[in-house]
Amino acid sequence: MIVMKFGGTSVKDADAIKRVINIIKSRIDSKPVVVSSATAGTTDKLINIGNDSKSGNYEKAIKSIIEVKERHLNIINSLIKSDKHISKAIKKLNEQIAELSEIVKGIYLLKELSGRTLAKISSFGELISTNILTIALIDRKVDTVLINANDFMITDDNFNNAEPQFNEIKKRLKNIVLPELKKNRVVVTQGFMGVSETGDITTFSRGGSDYSASIIGACMKSKEIEIWTDVDGILSADPRIVNSPKILNEISFKEAAELAFFGAKVLHPSTIEPAIKNNIPVRILNSHRPQKPGTIIIKKTNSTKYDVKSITSKKNIKVLNIYSTKMLFAYGFLKKIFEIFDKYKTSVDLITTSEVNVSLTLENTNNLKYVIDELSEFAEVKLEENKALICVVGNNLKFMKGIEKRIFKVVGDFKISMISQGASLINISFVIENDDLEKVIKLLHKEFFE
Ligand code: ADP
Ligand code: ASP
Ligand code: MG
Repeated sequence: MIVMKFGGTSVKDADAIKRVINIIKSRIDSKPVVVSSATAGTTDKLINIGNDSKSGNYEKAIKSIIEVKERHLNIINSLIKSDKHISKAIKKLNEQIAELSEIVKGIYLLKELSGRTLAKISSFGELISTNILTIALIDRKVDTVLINANDFMITDDNFNNAEPQFNEIKKRLKNIVLPELKKNRVVVTQGFMGVSETGDITTFSRGGSDYSASIIGACMKSKEIEIWTDVDGILSADPRIVNSPKILNEISFKEAAELAFFGAKVLHPSTIEPAIKNNIPVRILNSHRPQKPGTIIIKKTNSTKYDVKSITSKKNIKVLNIYSTKMLFAYGFLKKIFEIFDKYKTSVDLITTSEVNVSLTLENTNNLKYVIDELSEFAEVKLEENKALICVVGNNLKFMKGIEKRIFKVVGDFKISMISQGASLINISFVIENDDLEKVIKLLHKEFFE
């Protein structure tokens, strides 16, 4: 079997979904499990609906719910051919919108939006899109069954940033999904959402449908995991910054993990781990141009060269500088620091140390105040904001002669806060000012690719 994941732009309207259906038809013999995201922009909208109703802006929330409904009604009417299937799709959409409206009213009345409720309303995007996709496939004579992710995607109860429970998921996929594939049915399911052991809806972090696909692929030992998106593959830089980035034909799991972790939005950062463990190739493909070969992510690439593969970045990160003249390398000092980050679930991207200082970059800073308060009990802490992290990823970079010289020839004119070449052979990272980000990426891309 294979897993095929379609992102938000791939299901954004009726024409996009027609393309998706043709792509699925071309893969029927491979027994696909199809994982779909919400239509592009819908998850953002649902989250705004939750926040608006919590802050008393109920009318705005209701208006947005109506927009979500209208958009999907339009899709149903221009996508599905038979009246019977149109009615079925609309009936389900109406039920979903009614349930969403009720929850949103509750949020408004209680002025409260917990993580649990946020996950519940966020999941409607995928619930709505998969209902439409399933009926549209059946309408086009593709034998299809919708299996809801909450029947098998068991997670912990970290509601908006859940982690999967692989053993339980594996068991359920075997019992629920496998028999359908054996009957030669296409299985459709929701990305992004799961369910806790207590039966509450959870979601992975944003962009998590990629992760759903790789979890299913790993648990079912699929032949391949296909991630269908709106670009021709993994590119040498973010196409929203660089005009004509190069397409990478193949990259290794390690390089892809590094790229995803350091900001390449095309893959959710957790996607690669389940694939690596089970050695399942991941292919990035363009649903607008399915004839293109895309990028294949595999264990070992053919390239033995030392080369730069891609330049990624994260904007709006914070740098925390921790100073302590006496204790820095005293036994247990770093442990003490990281216990605080652990306690407040704050993950660290990059670390550098000197004789008297540890610097760290942070992206999720919800609990930063508490982290700083506790660190300040034994060290001097300085926070720098509006920074950007750039990461140059490639093969055997550590052995690529003169690479630092080429990077710093470009970056040397800009203010650099941190530099790290990690023990890995595949990444060189540094921190600059937010405002310089696009300029530096363009210059680096020119140096290495143009
Ligand atoms: P989907 O809705 O299919 O999940 P995303 O928007 O999450 O799509 O990811 C695809 C987008 O990632 C592309 O449209 C592109 O703008 C962006 N992107 C950023 N960096 C890269 C990169 N190195 N290679 C490819 N795409 C990238
Ligand atoms: N719909 C979810 C989001 O927008 C998941 C995804 O698209 O991958 O974050
Ligand atoms: Mg995505």
